[in-house]
Amino acid sequence: MKITTRKRKERRLLELIKNAADQSSDGILITNAKLNYHSQKILYVNKQFYALTGYKYPELIGKNIHRLLGSKTNPKIIARLRRNLSHGENFLGRMVNYRKDGSEFYMEWDISPVSAYEGKTTHFFSIVRDVSEQITTENGKQERIGIVGHELKTPLTSLKGLVAILKKHMVEENYSNKKKNIEYLALMESEVERLIGLTEELLNTTRRKTIGVRPDKQPCDLDCIIRQVIKNVKIAYNTHKIKRRGKIGTLVSCDKDRIMQVVTNLLTNAIKYSPNADQVFMTIERENNHAIIKIQDFGMGIPKEKQEKIFERFYRATDKNQSVSTGLGLYIASEIVRNHDGKIWVESTEGKGSVFSFSLPL
Ligand code: ADP
Repeated sequence: MKITTRKRKERRLLELIKNAADQSSDGILITNAKLNYHSQKILYVNKQFYALTGYKYPELIGKNIHRLLGSKTNPKIIARLRRNLSHGENFLGRMVNYRKDGSEFYMEWDISPVSAYEGKTTHFFSIVRDVSEQITTENGKQERIGIVGHELKTPLTSLKGLVAILKKHMVEENYSNKKKNIEYLALMESEVERLIGLTEELLNTTRRKTIGVRPDKQPCDLDCIIRQVIKNVKIAYNTHKIKRRGKIGTLVSCDKDRIMQVVTNLLTNAIKYSPNADQVFMTIERENNHAIIKIQDFGMGIPKEKQEKIFERFYRATDKNQSVSTGLGLYIASEIVRNHDGKIWVESTEGKGSVFSFSLPL
């Protein structure tokens, strides 16, 4: 083959490779094979890479790769990347990267060492794609699993308490407790029904984005709901006296199971976060056209600066007594109350105790 024909063919092939790279929906980047920040230079990027990072041609060529990394880039992932590449192995991983305007996003990197001659690595060839949306969906799923777990925990906790009492009565063969035992069995039955309801709802909602916050409102006897929660909580926790005061005396349009969940959560928190106290007060009152429920404890309280954050998801104000805490309870409670057009708030003094209140329109 003549030299000119061969050159023409090679040029055409190069053009084809360049066009294919530019039309790829993934970003492509080639650097030299230096592994420290300061000498790893960018030699080639395709159009999609510019689109992903917001840089313009030729703002990246000859520049340091360091500019794509930042404070949220996980150093452990960078260390793994270097380890793999220095051993001549591929790297596949996700990390936070930074665009030209400083905004962060998740990129998935698939990097291969390239040896152009004599088997020595001369370049690194990377294929990248933006996986931010996928990661947000995955985090959302994790959150929904947390919420469901939290919802299932409430009836399971009272069931555990009831089983323990019944077992004790059986062991003691104390038949004078027969009436009580029947009452406990009825409570167990209603908790099991609640679990079945939650599970069904979970199965129905797996395709929907929100879980556990859509209220199914019916006229309910709020006073009765509160009495029932107190009864359940007393069985599961016998460390505190729960003193109730006041009543509404009228039906309230609400989702019984959801409101039970809110009251249970506030009440069990009041107990959990006041390990040195032995009582909790509950007040139910009408104010204008609202029902107000207040739960007061004499426990550790919450510092002022943390009170605003307490209803955020996954927020935990203290690490004490938190082995099974998720930081989701108050977030779920506030979502449920908000979906009932009500309000939820806290007044608290560190070291003295807290009053959690919520309102429901009448
Ligand atoms: P969890 O109790 O599962 O951690 P919550 O959302 O119910 O989650 O509560 C969030 C945080 O708020 C808790 O970790 C705790 O630090 C704080 N907290 C909630 N209720 C009280 C209370 N009654 N007294 C003091 N701190 C509380």
